[in-house]
Amino acid sequence: MFIDKASIQLKAGRGGDGAISWRREAFIPSGGPDGGDGGRGGSIYFVADNNVATLLDFKYKRTYKAESGMNGMGKKMAGKSGQDLYLKVPVGTVIREKESLLPIADLTEDGETFLAVKGGRGGKGNTHFKNSVRQAPRFAIPGQHGQELEVILEVKLIADVGLVGLPNVGKSTILSILSNARPKIANYHFTTLSPNLGVVDIDHDLSFVLADIPGLVEGASSGAGLGDDFLRHIERTRVLVHVLDMAGSEGRDPYQDYLLIQEELASYNEALPDRVKIIVANKMDLPGGEEGLTRFKEEIGETSARILPLSAATTKGIKELKYAIADALKGLPRTLASFDEDLVDVNQFFKRDEGITVVRKEDTIFVTGEPVKDLVRRLIITDEGSVRFFERRLEDMGVMDQIREKNPTENDTIDVEGFQFDWL
Ligand code: GDP
Ligand code: MG
Repeated sequence: MFIDKASIQLKAGRGGDGAISWRREAFIPSGGPDGGDGGRGGSIYFVADNNVATLLDFKYKRTYKAESGMNGMGKKMAGKSGQDLYLKVPVGTVIREKESLLPIADLTEDGETFLAVKGGRGGKGNTHFKNSVRQAPRFAIPGQHGQELEVILEVKLIADVGLVGLPNVGKSTILSILSNARPKIANYHFTTLSPNLGVVDIDHDLSFVLADIPGLVEGASSGAGLGDDFLRHIERTRVLVHVLDMAGSEGRDPYQDYLLIQEELASYNEALPDRVKIIVANKMDLPGGEEGLTRFKEEIGETSARILPLSAATTKGIKELKYAIADALKGLPRTLASFDEDLVDVNQFFKRDEGITVVRKEDTIFVTGEPVKDLVRRLIITDEGSVRFFERRLEDMGVMDQIREKNPTENDTIDVEGFQFDWL
């Protein structure tokens, strides 16, 4: 088994600010408030997808941000919500919070989703704050920040597809061509971990793990040479590809070789012969290849497996093989490695006062951070209602509690991002 890992950073979108705006109509010099609400920030979800085999994409892009909500506008127009981001991961992905390494999700089924970070709520426009006393609310509520989290994605890789066949038929060559389709993956870590395992990328969203299963030779099933490791691998594959030297270049007969391997497979596990969905007629570039193939087709007669001519040497037919494998895998569920840890609630990693610091310096208590900056920006000290909202928000955000922890007295000044007041 091989563990594939990636470490990424998630940032949900910020909520849009509520608007401060006034109705403007002909003949009405100053209308009432008409500031709309800010849109919700986009959230980030993970989705398990059968077509994704590895975490390769997450090794190149490390930071994921969902869209922010738009600010509210005049005429009570709400800002557009930020789009949610759905990140596709292989079925069998375990997600951990980076610092604690505690598991927050274990996605075991195709289509299963997990909400990792929530977008910030949109702020409220000034229309909400009009009442019988306050006819002209000159304040609105800013949008909330989106949640942020660093996570580690983890997948225990099991080969989806196994290449079987006698020695020297071209298995390793085929694996190297297929899995080197993307030159960038040359130093992808499990090429060094196991030279017999490669990742084949069909396109952005579709890939599979291919194993070259070496040394399946006569007698191996009776214990000569191959261990349990081999068996475990081959039993968990979803599709087997049988590679034959169709040119019979070592004086062998392809059909006899085919029968030999089928028998070998059956002696391991009766279900294995049926798992061969593709027969690769390799070495078609060599003399005797065409005749060999014609004869082989006659000898094998009717078969549910697809027979694909190939030359691994010239790569003719390799594309067809790639798509034939992808096709054969369609709808076959992946075998999962077992996972038996208890999941923890992701919410324990988010604090309500995230990004806010409260420090005392002599007789001043300083409160800093983006969320309070927004509040101060919107504060109108001459408006009683606005001040009350400011205080209430500080209370809601847990900032007041943090100030109280610093034991403020009447002689102390509270400085919230430059806005100063006495502690009462
Ligand atoms: P494996 O033992 O099944 O893994 O076979 P290898 O991939 O190591 O190939 C054995 C030999 O056959 C190597 O010398 C390859 O270069 C050669 N070979 C593989 N595929 C082809 C092919 O399509 N045409 C020709 N002419 N030679 C091939
Ligand atoms: Mg080999």
